[in-house]
Amino acid sequence: MINFKETLKEECKKINLELDEQALNRFEIYKDLLIKWNEKINLTAITEEYEVIMKHFIDCLEIVKYINEKESVIDVGTGAGFPGIVIAIYFNSNIRITLVDALEKRVKFLQEVISKLELKNVEIIHSRAEELSRNENYREKFDVVTSRAVSALNVLLEFNIPLLKKDGRALLLKGSNLQSELDTSKKALQVLKCKITNTYEYNYKINEEIYNRYILEVLKEDKTSDKYPRNYGKIKKNPL
Ligand code: SAM
Repeated sequence: MINFKETLKEECKKINLELDEQALNRFEIYKDLLIKWNEKINLTAITEEYEVIMKHFIDCLEIVKYINEKESVIDVGTGAGFPGIVIAIYFNSNIRITLVDALEKRVKFLQEVISKLELKNVEIIHSRAEELSRNENYREKFDVVTSRAVSALNVLLEFNIPLLKKDGRALLLKGSNLQSELDTSKKALQVLKCKITNTYEYNYKINEEIYNRYILEVLKEDKTSDKYPRNYGKIKKNPL
């Protein structure tokens, strides 16, 4: 058995982030809820405590280095709250964040997490991203859109970019097949009027195995054409 809070605190120090006692407590409650709810509904394949710390919490905490708390954030395909809940805990409710997922049972889990962690300024929406992007209350309203493990980059851009204001940024957590995703996303970047401005590399180690990870930063240079996003059937059949 590991000491959960001590281990998380130490791993954070290694990536130059500091968590206060309240954040450490919230991460512990979040971990307990994740493991408990996962017995009934499928939230994650990762349930061993050290792996939860590394593969979920530390992996997602890297993104806070590139977010300013004055920015409005939307996490698309948040699932069990990654990276959205992690961002909300880190900024101690001082950031306005919207979490979106297409699966209702995951949305119910998130509502419980928000309530138990007493997080403020978090909105949870049960919707497909491409439908939300067509809603005028959400379209072109955010400074930052985040996503981890939702879909291939060319598809993800069509879901996410319409939600951003002009000059807003997508911060996308990606794994080792990034280069091939970039190769197939040239048209999507052009059509959606955005460009890649940074690729932040990081890694973490579990039992000598190194996990290489990337945060891709995409800048929205101009307003999105009303044509996008198309409906899911069209996106799937004929990705940009
Ligand atoms: N981001 C979380 C993580 O990294 O653990 C969840 C990843 S899970 C593999 C993908 C999630 O994206 C699922 O919860 C799924 O319901 C959601 N999703 C996929 N496509 C979506 C869309 N178009 N709109 C909203 N949610 C979507």
